[in-house]
Amino acid sequence: MKALVLKAYKQFACEDVPDPAPGPDEVLVAVKACGICGSDVHGMDGSTGRRRPPIIMGHEAAGVIAGVGSRVAGWAAGERVTFDSTIYCGQCAFCRRGMINLCDRRRVLGVSCEDYRQNGAFAELVAVPQHILYRLPDGLAFEHAALVEPFAIALHAVRRAPPTLNDAVVVVGAGMIGLALVQALSQAGCGRLIVADIASDRLALAAKFGATHLINSSTEDALGAILRLTQGLGADLAFEAVGVAATVNLALACLRKGGAATLIGNVTPKTEFPLQSVVTRELTIYGSCASQGEYPACLDMLARGALHAAPLISATAPLAEGAAWFDRLYRKEPGLLKVVLRP
Ligand SMILES: [Zn+2]
Ligand SMILES: [Zn+2]
Repeated sequence: MKALVLKAYKQFACEDVPDPAPGPDEVLVAVKACGICGSDVHGMDGSTGRRRPPIIMGHEAAGVIAGVGSRVAGWAAGERVTFDSTIYCGQCAFCRRGMINLCDRRRVLGVSCEDYRQNGAFAELVAVPQHILYRLPDGLAFEHAALVEPFAIALHAVRRAPPTLNDAVVVVGAGMIGLALVQALSQAGCGRLIVADIASDRLALAAKFGATHLINSSTEDALGAILRLTQGLGADLAFEAVGVAATVNLALACLRKGGAATLIGNVTPKTEFPLQSVVTRELTIYGSCASQGEYPACLDMLARGALHAAPLISATAPLAEGAAWFDRLYRKEPGLLKVVLRP
């Protein structure tokens, strides 16, 4: 099969590799669409230690079943499917509590780190365990289904700290996850849905997805603006989708007393923490990692038009052009959100 292989840091080849052989509990999926994730782009230069060459990256995919292992039941060749980006074991203490995203033996497709190497979906074929598969609703295009993973991350975050009716909610960061959050929150009964980012094109998309107030934090005092919009009280909830000191601190500072922040972004491993402010204002902080069973809800919402994948896709391109698109994303070309490759 053809695959886009990360041969060395920042160096790709679209080349012939052996077809993956599905194990007894695995399904072979002919990949029709696979999105390039920010974690792939950050990881390709070696900075995260989670994309060690050689590796076939790609964990946001959809396709058609091309073959099934000997113990697979309930899945057949020709079915349209997507799959969880995370392979969970189903056996550990966390899986048995339903916390599959926190599995002790968690492996992410398209990741190679100190502990494992799991080839992903920037390839014509990928083998995945049957227990992470989901059927695609009729009429949901492969390219749109490939975006179910970032939407599931957003839905999981909203489920960590769901708004109550008419809450003032702030989303800090309008990248892929931030914009998926805005879409999910706009369905969740917020009163004010305030979005802060430094890019005006992303803020314009947020408005299209239901944001009621936009703050360009490169030109405005974001904290002051949020306090003005909330009668000086602060927001009930904040969702942080960047993960650097300034944005984490904004997400905490903009809350009312007793408010809650859900932290998703984590591009920096550590930040300064406003201890006294959190303690004396009785703030609640939630971490939110990946997703925990939100795929079926997301697929349903995408299929009935409650979530919108199309406006988040900047380009769809053949797998052979993958290296060039990775390069454009790596150089942070303005205006690019999700790029979907078609093997
Ligand atoms: Zn991803
Ligand atoms: Zn487990």
